[in-house]
Amino acid sequence: MHKILAKIKIFIYRLSFNSTLLKVIKFLSKPLVAPAFYQRDVAHQKLQHKKPLYVIVSVDTESGFVTSNEERLWQVNNPDLFQGFYYGIHNWVNLLEKHGVRGNFMLSTQCFSAKGKEKTLVEKKLKSLLESNHEIGYHLHPKSDHSLEKILGKKLKYTSSKFYTATEIDDMLKAARYLLQDKLGKQTNKEILSFRWGNYGLYQHAFRVLEKNGFIIDSSACPGKSGHKSDDKIFDWSRYRSHLPKPLNGTRVLEVPVTTFDFFNHTLVANPLYHPWLDIVFDKYLLLNEHLNAPFFFVLLSHSSEATYKNGGSTKIISVMDAFLNRVRRMENVSVITFQEAYKIFYKNE
Ligand SMILES: [Zn+2]
Repeated sequence: MHKILAKIKIFIYRLSFNSTLLKVIKFLSKPLVAPAFYQRDVAHQKLQHKKPLYVIVSVDTESGFVTSNEERLWQVNNPDLFQGFYYGIHNWVNLLEKHGVRGNFMLSTQCFSAKGKEKTLVEKKLKSLLESNHEIGYHLHPKSDHSLEKILGKKLKYTSSKFYTATEIDDMLKAARYLLQDKLGKQTNKEILSFRWGNYGLYQHAFRVLEKNGFIIDSSACPGKSGHKSDDKIFDWSRYRSHLPKPLNGTRVLEVPVTTFDFFNHTLVANPLYHPWLDIVFDKYLLLNEHLNAPFFFVLLSHSSEATYKNGGSTKIISVMDAFLNRVRRMENVSVITFQEAYKIFYKNE
């Protein structure tokens, strides 16, 4: 099943912007795409765009790249393809600067495992990222993070938090904090307040541990979605139905979930990979937002590794985001913000 879905994803991704097939798909799928908490009575009203809608561009910053066949190589299986850290960051920063908006780089500490020439390239890129105005968060991928393993002195065999005790998670986060401070500086470490578990693999017993280790925002939830039931990447947000931000159970950590939408019977993540539906989904959420009393954050998820080919050339993800930002940036009442700005907006509204 996973293989078929992956093939469909690549097929959709490869469709060229101007092809007739893409136009037909867009037209036919319009009624089938719905916000995951769609309300039928809202659907037919006219757009007014009065209430502010906030867009958050989150980039999981990790190893990997896109091959010439448009196949995506991920950190989970290829922790040592560091292109995602230097070329990937480079292509995203270029795009965001072009539009004058701030992104959120959810950084995996695997970046500190690079050696030799690659180490220099990664360090240079991280330095320029720190000098820019973008926000940095932490992205935990235990299994593919050799830097964490080195500090902890043991092999981390699983991706999802489900397989680790709260104490083990605490140790991992302490190691991560140590690395961030050691490599990026005390001040930067203090400013890293947002978190995302790799592959959405956050479970309840880890909530308090996040808080204990200085994270005040989490964005691991993807409402309505679950997956990898029989491997180490298991995640399950199928019963989590809140698309609006709210504190994680028993903590003050604000959950700002990744935006999801329904397509047939599938829950998909708001991701430039699904470019035929991105504008449709966005417009539907824009309309729905008008009827919500609380602030809504349209959280897009992508990866640094998806933004680059092996040689650094920028991929279709970047051109999709270019078009998307071009469009939403001009919309009245739409602003592109960071997780920490979202946190402030949420608590001001409380
Ligand atoms: Zn990841």
